[in-house]
Amino acid sequence: MRVLYVEDEQFLAEAVKHNLNKEDIECDLAFNGEDGLNMALDKIYDVVILDVMLPKLSGIDILRRMRERKIATPVIMLSALSEVEDKVHGLESGADDYLAKPFKTAELVARIKALMRRPAEIQDEKVKYLNLVYDVNEKSLNGITLTAKEAGIIHELLKTPGKIVKKDFLLNKVWGGEALGEDNYIEVYISRLRKVLRKIGSRAEINSVRGFGYKIVEA
Ligand code: CA
Repeated sequence: MRVLYVEDEQFLAEAVKHNLNKEDIECDLAFNGEDGLNMALDKIYDVVILDVMLPKLSGIDILRRMRERKIATPVIMLSALSEVEDKVHGLESGADDYLAKPFKTAELVARIKALMRRPAEIQDEKVKYLNLVYDVNEKSLNGITLTAKEAGIIHELLKTPGKIVKKDFLLNKVWGGEALGEDNYIEVYISRLRKVLRKIGSRAEINSVRGFGYKIVEA
């Protein structure tokens, strides 16, 4: 699970990130509204946490622009002003939840997990394409258990069969920001996945699109 936290109080942001990491939640930080919006538009996050009062763009502005661009990532709004008005304003702009500052990390974690348990996500337990069945919870493909990274890659490819999934997107989503530029990594995992597909007798194959990324297509 990967979240984006947009917060201008850097000390607080780092502390929350540290605590989320302990809960196995990856957390990227942005310290102003503009960076936050750019990162949120990447669509790689499971949940976006927005402070309301931010330099450059407010949390509410970010949320509005995300929704205008049809980015449905669940959003938790944070605000030091716990007034009802503020809360209503946040929720009206399309936030999924609202947390007043100061908050306990345990509370934030509970809210993140609650958003992840929504029915839309639960229905997403199995992804099917041709004769392939990927089990999201077990991270298995036609019964073969995959490593976390193999699973992450095949899951992304299977979400949009026939469409190119950019290499940078995969690196970001599966490896996290640290692996940017580590293109070779991904090749190794793609070739392992191809072996798995052969073993299964898959009717689908992974194509490389030079300079762009990969797509899964009918063989
Ligand atoms: Ca702030």
